[in-house]
Amino acid sequence: MTKTLKVEIASPDRQIYSGEAEMLVAPGVQGELGVLPRHTHLMAALQPGEIRLTNGKQVECYAISSGFIEVCPDKVLVLADAAEAAVDISVERAKRALERARKRLQEKQGGEVDFGRARLALMRAINRLKVSEGK
Ligand code: ATP
Repeated sequence: MTKTLKVEIASPDRQIYSGEAEMLVAPGVQGELGVLPRHTHLMAALQPGEIRLTNGKQVECYAISSGFIEVCPDKVLVLADAAEAAVDISVERAKRALERARKRLQEKQGGEVDFGRARLALMRAINRLKVSEGK
């Protein structure tokens, strides 16, 4: 019986992970998705959050922006707008992005700011900081 899944995590510009995992947990828009080998076929939208890959006692974490997951019984494909391994996240960069987004949201009253875009940037930055803290 197969004990692992083939996992690919990719963004439009690069492949972030390609390998095996005994279990994958992903941030579905309707709640956390846990995937083990022989999972039924599934497609779902993902929200900003953390992907966790488990192999034995080792757990690798990735921050992802929004995206999609396709699950097959022996394989999982994650297509994300952006994704980074927790160890590759620049905390300084995320803090700067957080500060920029906060300022934009405060300037909102002026009417020049794209509120939705600033809110998404804020969510991405907060998520990166959170995932990076757990590494
Ligand atoms: P920034 O304003 O700092 O670019 P952003 O949220 O607008 O942040 P994205 O458009 O989501 O950035 O990502 C652009 C690219 O930069 C992606 O390849 C992403 O993986 C990478 N990236 C963004 N922020 C970080 C970070 N803090 N650490 C490492 N890589 C990052």
